[in-house]
Amino acid sequence: MNQEIMPITPWGPALTTEEVTAGVTIVETEGHGGMRLTLGRQTEMRLAGVPEEWIKEWYEEDCEVAVVMLAFCDEFDPPSVARALKMVVGIADDLDLLAARWKVLLAWTGSSGTKINERIALNYCHSGTCPLCNYPFQVYVRESEYLGWKSGVLIQEAMPDLSLDDRERFQTGICHGCWETMERQLDDE
Ligand SMILES: [Zn+2]
Repeated sequence: MNQEIMPITPWGPALTTEEVTAGVTIVETEGHGGMRLTLGRQTEMRLAGVPEEWIKEWYEEDCEVAVVMLAFCDEFDPPSVARALKMVVGIADDLDLLAARWKVLLAWTGSSGTKINERIALNYCHSGTCPLCNYPFQVYVRESEYLGWKSGVLIQEAMPDLSLDDRERFQTGICHGCWETMERQLDDE
């Protein structure tokens, strides 16, 4: 049996761990939990302009994980990013002395706000499953773009930022892996 060694976290020994995006792991302990970042991801936070005092290995789950979601906003779904931003704004507003750290953070979200706001602006979720393998998907776009496509605008014009794979999610729902399998089968014939 593959016995994974569970890390010791600031909140005690981990009971479960799950990598949610590359180099970012959610850990749960008996009483609390949070996220753990690899050194590489900490460096990326620095490059993203996150204030130095907020760059570290462990982020507790109630408030601090918001920082990770905002720094890597493209890797988390827009509703979660929106909640993360609301949390930072809320905490910085509510506390005074304790909030100095949070106010520094708020200043950063303001300056990198464009990227975060662009992510949050993706307010329409197209979800479903691949009709061939049943693998579930969720694609976020702007509702106005989606409505444009529904009304007959070509998808590459209505949603120009969409990747080819995501475009397929709207048109046939077929996932990348299944397309590759079909192409291989055609090649073999
Ligand atoms: Zn599939």
